[in-house]
Amino acid sequence: MSTPDIDNIIAAIRSVIHQKKEGPVSLHEPCFEGNERAYVKDCIDSTWVSYVGKYVDRFEDMLAGFTGVKKAVAVVNGTAALQIALQLAGVKANDEVLVPALTFVATANATAHCGAVPHFVDSEEKTLGMDPDKLKNYLKEIANLNDNGCTNKKTGRRIKAVIPMHTFGHPADLDPLTEVCREYKMEMIEDAAESLGSFYKGKHTGNWGKLSILSFNGNKTITTGGGGAIITNDEALAKLAKHLTSTAKIPHRWEYRHDYIGYNYRMPNINAALGCAQMEQLTGFLNKKRNLAERYSRAFRNVDGVKFFTEPPHAKSNYWLNCLLLDKADAEQRNKILEKTNDAGIMTRPVWTLLNKLNMFRDCPRMDLSCAEDLEVRIINIPSSASLTKS
Ligand SMILES: *Cc1c(COP(=O)(O)O)cnc(C)c1O
Repeated sequence: MSTPDIDNIIAAIRSVIHQKKEGPVSLHEPCFEGNERAYVKDCIDSTWVSYVGKYVDRFEDMLAGFTGVKKAVAVVNGTAALQIALQLAGVKANDEVLVPALTFVATANATAHCGAVPHFVDSEEKTLGMDPDKLKNYLKEIANLNDNGCTNKKTGRRIKAVIPMHTFGHPADLDPLTEVCREYKMEMIEDAAESLGSFYKGKHTGNWGKLSILSFNGNKTITTGGGGAIITNDEALAKLAKHLTSTAKIPHRWEYRHDYIGYNYRMPNINAALGCAQMEQLTGFLNKKRNLAERYSRAFRNVDGVKFFTEPPHAKSNYWLNCLLLDKADAEQRNKILEKTNDAGIMTRPVWTLLNKLNMFRDCPRMDLSCAEDLEVRIINIPSSASLTKS
């Protein structure tokens, strides 16, 4: 273990990236070089900008086709998608949901939006995602299994669901996690917000959860401005998801009749138009991102004190956000690297603050989080836009 030389890190990044425009290199920016303008113009010209129009159906079909799920339901953002997915998986107020401590805040927020309580789980270094073995051992200790499913002995609450999240697009170890869910009668919902284009053992992420979700926020692999989707292989649940997210209106030529307390979470047609144009380019984006990652990997081979994180075994990752792992968990050293790289016009970022440290989640149950705590001070994200690849 040695202390990384920051000039070497900067040189390695500079040797890989190729930016056409002037100014600082951003972490991840969208690329609109396809039919975006034509499709958005078509929405405006036809006046179909809002909740009715052909692009929503088309976008949903493209998503289902690409990910290999039966159905996709486009919604306003990934957080809303996750809230509805949890509800449809049967998560009720006062249930607990197992969530990684190392994730974007949306995973725990959506859980809380259902009235449920996030219960924080540790990660593993191999995938940066939930650690299946550690989770299994932990449940052995704290869970009671009965006809109702799984109960937390300490809190008395039902543990209804588990949300593996595919960190920076690297798939969590889904097979053993599925096994733990089966053994403890919990539902799995994959937070695949970051993993469009990532495959686990040859199959697209999002196929393991009862329902899973995607995000099309401006910083994700493809964007609709803001947007998300619920994806599932259960057609009845997909139908219900569509119904619930579009005010639960019973179809009729003129009557307004609703049969649930629904949500106004539909994705507008104009956003879906952007999405269709982006989906047409997805394979190209993914090729460029993998190429960028390969070149980072080579460039960092000779930089001491830090390694470039590569996809776990059995995975083909989208490399949504590239990341460095410092050998040593040293927050001071990490901060120095962040400061110097940003000063040099290269945008770098630390990983999210562990969610159990945020005020609103401070009192939530959690297991030992030693790996997540270690990763929290070792991860540095580096520029990852598809457009940075030299052609
Ligand atoms: C982006 C993201 C989401 C969803 O975010 P929205 O901005 O609501 O679309 C959820 N979980 C994770 C891990 C994310 O990175």
